[in-house]
Amino acid sequence: MMLDFFPDDIKPHIIPKVRGDLYYKCLGCSAEYSIEKLLYVCPECNQVLLIEDRNAKLLQKIPGKVWQKIFDFRKMLKIPALKGIYRYHEFIGPSIPLESIIYLGEGHTPVIEASENLKAKIGLSFFYKNDGQNPSASFKDRGMASAMSSIKYLIDKHLVSDVIAICASTGDTSAAAALYASYLGSSIKSAVLLPHKKVTSQQLSQPLGSGAQVFEIPGVFDDCMKIVEHLSTKYSVVLLNSKNAWRILGQESYSYEIAQDFDWDMKDKVVVVPIGNAGNISAIMNGFIKFYEANIINCLPKIIGAQSEHADPVYQYYLEPDQAKRKFVPVDTKPSVAQAAMIGNPVSMPRVIQITKKYNALARHQQVFFVQVTEQSIMDCQLLANRNGHIACTQGGECLAGLVEAFKKNIVTNKETAILDATAHAIKFSEFQDLYFKSEIPADYKIDPDLNNINQPCLILPDDPMIIPSQKKRLGEKDFKKFVNDISDKIAKRLDLTTSL
Ligand SMILES: *Cc1c(COP(=O)(O)O)cnc(C)c1O
Ligand SMILES: [Zn+2]
Repeated sequence: MMLDFFPDDIKPHIIPKVRGDLYYKCLGCSAEYSIEKLLYVCPECNQVLLIEDRNAKLLQKIPGKVWQKIFDFRKMLKIPALKGIYRYHEFIGPSIPLESIIYLGEGHTPVIEASENLKAKIGLSFFYKNDGQNPSASFKDRGMASAMSSIKYLIDKHLVSDVIAICASTGDTSAAAALYASYLGSSIKSAVLLPHKKVTSQQLSQPLGSGAQVFEIPGVFDDCMKIVEHLSTKYSVVLLNSKNAWRILGQESYSYEIAQDFDWDMKDKVVVVPIGNAGNISAIMNGFIKFYEANIINCLPKIIGAQSEHADPVYQYYLEPDQAKRKFVPVDTKPSVAQAAMIGNPVSMPRVIQITKKYNALARHQQVFFVQVTEQSIMDCQLLANRNGHIACTQGGECLAGLVEAFKKNIVTNKETAILDATAHAIKFSEFQDLYFKSEIPADYKIDPDLNNINQPCLILPDDPMIIPSQKKRLGEKDFKKFVNDISDKIAKRLDLTTSL
């Protein structure tokens, strides 16, 4: 819609104004730092940071109902910079001018209701939010659009130049980083570190195709992360891991969209998220908190974090009911089909701990829960979802497994509606589906394929091995007719096609 057509009370708010009131806040010692520097951990105490807004209180001066209207109208704008995560500019990054925003189509992902069949099987109503429909096919694009726009802003202001951006990744961060960096051209070069043989070939092909320098490192993600941390303390590089607080800020858009998708009514809503490095769940909780404090949503939805039994440090931490006695201990991971979440020492653990405390306090009761699921249930749930019209990756399967587990434990009832994060597109993780269908999943995953779930292609050959069409030698008319009849009969038999026309 053209600007002229917007109602008069909304018009002044439609194009957001740039404000420079953001700062980095250390989660350890509360020190504050300027966002005009490249900073990932506190120089004083080495803790992770979050980006805070000195003017957050001002956002509350606009009534929640007006905010809702602003965002609903802004959705109709055709300005690219405001179509994605920056539709919520005032909450996502008010210091970033529209000219510095990079928009590659991230955000505004669809929310798809589970089919009647699937709902009946699971026992309650739920939706998948398909974050696999982001440009690099995972939710990481939300945080990457934010981190890259913040870098573009520093480049535009001549505060940095010749940027080398690096990250360690379980696959999807590197795909997103390489994509956004390649869009910026020569002003930024990206290098990604991947655990050797611990990312799928689709994920490996993405940064290669975007022209990034790709380094494969023996070990698991946690080992790659240590190398990236070492590099970032010794050399002047831009860190694109979720240690980068801009990533968290951008990923808060997921919550804002859910709020808007459900017309701002969060009553009896449950948001289920898989946990790896714990950046996403931190961002999602933080996003809901900000909208709640600005009176844009009426209550805080229930949050359920799901972890595989093969990579469950956050779940283990919260097993201790006494808050004072909880102690974080990294775990050694075992092979997991939810490979993008296979992390034993989550970078964002301090964020989860602080934000969870705040979330529960604001809700005035426990509203954040953590569940553990088996590898078997992850795989079975992914296949079940996708057989019912979804495009969930294995981590999306982990979400559904988490919902089933939470339902079993009465954390969720059938009066509630769940929103599950399909964090990446199914095709990124199709290798696990292939292994399952071929009954070749290595034993240490502890998954037994359910024969009912297996699906394999079936090669149909003609009786006469000489009558086969090829690109080199076409069949004569008579032979080709014979071939078509023969193959059709065989397919009809397999499909039990009996009625003739
Ligand atoms: C990164 C990732 C996760 C885990 O998110 P964290 O922020 O690391 O907790 C889950 N699913 C997919 C597909 C991912 O790429
Ligand atoms: Zn500090």
